Amino acid sequence: MSEYKTFSEEVEARSGQKLKLCYQCLKCFVGCPMSDYMDYKPNAIIRMIQYGEKKKLLSSNVIWMCVSCMTCGVRCPNDIDISVIIDALKEMSIEEGLAYKKEKKIVVFHEEFVRSVKMWGRLHEMTFYIPFMARTIIKVKARDLVSTMRSAVLLLSRFKLPFIPKRIKGIEEIQKLYEKGYRTKGELK
Ligand code: SF4
Ligand code: SF4
Repeated sequence: MSEYKTFSEEVEARSGQKLKLCYQCLKCFVGCPMSDYMDYKPNAIIRMIQYGEKKKLLSSNVIWMCVSCMTCGVRCPNDIDISVIIDALKEMSIEEGLAYKKEKKIVVFHEEFVRSVKMWGRLHEMTFYIPFMARTIIKVKARDLVSTMRSAVLLLSRFKLPFIPKRIKGIEEIQKLYEKGYRTKGELK
């Protein structure tokens, strides 16, 4: 049973953004470089949350197409940062098991990226990329695989890809930030 009465209340609590301030001026939509590829435009995300269209929104591609450029937040006259709202929606979508309905590769990329940063404090390319490839191999084109392998060999030969991951100093601080910001139920898959 959720501790929140409405979808809107939950998104506000998890993102820290005040959705009630939105008056649909569309400035976020006009500046968004990814809006052509999204099922719903950035301003519509706010409206859908207010209307309680949780399942529809969490299964859409919107949250996986956002590149977190923050243009919407900078343009908003009411300081609403939609990229932060989208971060909260990403975690909710994974928790609800709706994330894989669209854009599986992007979802897996997100999960493995977060796992790597939580574990090492920064992205470790090798331990990120191998599980990412293993989980998405059927969706990878042979051409892309060959080109990736070629780049990996080149980088390894120039000592640009460390084999052994190393935890950064203060990793606990990074992990605490994730605990605070991403209230996922258990580990990411
Ligand atoms: S720019 Fe801000 S106020 Fe305008 S529609 Fe977007 S979120 Fe709402
Ligand atoms: S942060 Fe996401 S929603 Fe906002 S402008 Fe950039 S791509 Fe669009």
